Amino acid sequence: MQKEKIIIIGSGPAGLTAALYTARASLDPLVISGNQLGGQISITSEVENYPGFPEGTTGPELVDMMQKQAERFGARLLIDEVTEVKFGKGPPFYVKTHGDEFEADAVIITVGASPKRLEIPGEDEFIGRGVSFCATCDGFFFREKDVLVVGGGDSALEEALFLTKFANRVRVIHRRDELRAGEALKRRATQHEKIEFVWDTVLEEIAGNGKVESVVTRNLKSKETEQLDTDGVFIFIGHYPNSSLFEKQLEMDERNYLMTDDHMMTSIPGVFAAGEIQDPVWRQIATSVGQGCAAAIACERWLESQE
Ligand code: NAP
Repeated sequence: MQKEKIIIIGSGPAGLTAALYTARASLDPLVISGNQLGGQISITSEVENYPGFPEGTTGPELVDMMQKQAERFGARLLIDEVTEVKFGKGPPFYVKTHGDEFEADAVIITVGASPKRLEIPGEDEFIGRGVSFCATCDGFFFREKDVLVVGGGDSALEEALFLTKFANRVRVIHRRDELRAGEALKRRATQHEKIEFVWDTVLEEIAGNGKVESVVTRNLKSKETEQLDTDGVFIFIGHYPNSSLFEKQLEMDERNYLMTDDHMMTSIPGVFAAGEIQDPVWRQIATSVGQGCAAAIACERWLESQE
C-alpha cells in the first residue's frame, strides 16, 4: 500500500489547478488522471473565453500547459483510473486504481462530468460509425459530408461551428425555437452559411446499414415525423456527473452532483471536490480552475489543522 499526503482524482482544469497549488505548497500531490487526461477540455476544439489568451487557444494546448506547470512544482501524474474508494469517516482514505492501492491523508475529487445520451434506438449501435460526442475527435471523418448536431447550448453551437471546417452541411436540431447558447456563439452560428437550424424537433431514431445513413425526427409542435438522410449525428445535450464511484459514501444532490460546503469540503472531512463533479451551474474552465484552487488551499489548511 503506497502512502500519499494528497491524492487528486481527475486531471481536468480543476484537478490540474489543485495539483499546481498543492505542489507549490510542498504537499507532493499525486494526480490520478482518469481515462481521459485533461478531462472534457482535452476534446474541446476552440477555447475563446479563458482569460489570458486574447486569440483563443485549444483544449489540448491548455491541458498540456496546465500539466507542465503543475509538474514543474513537483506534482506527479499517474495515468490510471480509480476503480474503488473507501473513505470511511476520516483518514487514511483508501484509493484503488487498476494497478495500485493507496492510502491518503486527504483527497480532492475532480472527476467531472460526461456527455448525456439521447437514449434512442441506434445511438449506442452507431457510436464510432457516425454517432459522436466529440467533434474535435471525429470531425475530420466527415469531410464534405452532411452532419446533424443535436442540442441548442454552447457546446452544440461551438462544435457545429467546428464541424463547418469539414462538413458541407451542418444541421442543428434543437427541441425548442430558442437557443440556450450565449450571444456570441449564437451570432456566429446563425450567420454561418453552412449551418441550418431545425427548430422544435427531437431525434427519435438513428438508422443505417453498418454506419449512420438517416435519422427519424419528430416536430414537437406539429407532431409530424420525418426521415432525414445524413452521414453523422453529433450529440451535445449536456452532461451528468461522474459520481457513481462515491455512491453511499459522499452526500449528493438529487442529480448526483457531490455536495460541498463553502470550503469545497464534501460530507467527509478531508475529502474535497472541485469542478463539474460538484458544480451543475457554472461549468466553465475558468470556474473549474477557481474551484480547484479553492479546494487546494482549503485542503492545505485542513491538513495543517490536523497536525
Ligand atoms: P447545456 O447548456 O445544458 O445545453 C444542453 C442543450 O441540449 C440545451 O439546448 C437543451 O435543450 C438540449 N437538450 C438537453 N437534453 C436534451 C434531450 N434529451 N433531447 C434534446 N435536446 C436536449 O449543455 P452544454 O451546451 O454542454 O453546456 C454546458 C455548460 O458548459 C454551460 O454552462 C455552457 O455555458 C458551458 N459551455 C461554455 C462554452 C463556451 O462558453 N465557449 C462552450 C461549451 C460549454 P433546452 O435548451 O431546451 O434545455
